[in-house]
Amino acid sequence: MAGLNKLLKNINDASEGQSEASEMDQNDKLSPSLMIKQKFNSMFLYMRDDRVLEEVRAGLHASAIIGSESEFCYREQVLSLIYEMSQGKELPVNALRIFSAGTSIHEKWQNMFKACSGNVPGFKLIRAEARSYSEKWKLFFTPDSIIEIDGIPYIVEIKSMNTFSYKHAAISSNPHPHARHQIQLYMHLTGIHQGLILIEDKNTQDFEVFRIKYNYKEVIPYLDRLIEINSQYESFINEGIQPTGMCNKESCKRAQNCNMRFACFHQNEAKKLDYGQS
Ligand code: SF4
Repeated sequence: MAGLNKLLKNINDASEGQSEASEMDQNDKLSPSLMIKQKFNSMFLYMRDDRVLEEVRAGLHASAIIGSESEFCYREQVLSLIYEMSQGKELPVNALRIFSAGTSIHEKWQNMFKACSGNVPGFKLIRAEARSYSEKWKLFFTPDSIIEIDGIPYIVEIKSMNTFSYKHAAISSNPHPHARHQIQLYMHLTGIHQGLILIEDKNTQDFEVFRIKYNYKEVIPYLDRLIEINSQYESFINEGIQPTGMCNKESCKRAQNCNMRFACFHQNEAKKLDYGQS
């Protein structure tokens, strides 16, 4: 009888062992969970929509003022001072993931600047994500950080990129043309005439820092645009002269990407900003 019990126990142990092994086999061969991936992807959409609710974008923004000649539209800028923006094109989830990775690199540096301010010798954070407004030009602009090193204040722009772009930028005399335009305009608007362009390789976290000095000549084209926007705004408000546009129809590609599309083509129905004039 004792022998039979031992035999049954051995059979039981063996079958339990087999079932554990088969569970392990299953665990060894993991497959992606589409359901959970979908849930995580929906979080990016939630974050996007939540941000839209948080901040109503209105008025002039420096990023638009430094836009390329082929894309820049005076009418869009003038209308943005008076009317609410159309709902922007919703970014797809893959673009949201890329933006979110870029944002986290910004936040890494900004958090480090904050933590090290006053603790690393000669280093001080003046402002992180320095959202600012120029009364003179009715212009919003947001340097990534304003810091001080050994008593000298700097405007900082942070740009992350893939390894291929980084390798090219790191040895270039103009590592990030867009950041250069931004920082020149920010230096003009803040009166801080030293800047830093920090570039980071998204894949290796290698980084380089480029010093840049204020150069008034580089800002002149943007000041010309701001003066012209102001002049067309006054003409529109006082004499009803429509600002210069660039689209013939609402369905064209440029109009589809324009936040002022509705105000441009349906002015009578467009909602005015609280502070807009009639
Ligand atoms: S729809 Fe075209 S013309 Fe109208 S404001 Fe936008 S970019 Fe300018």
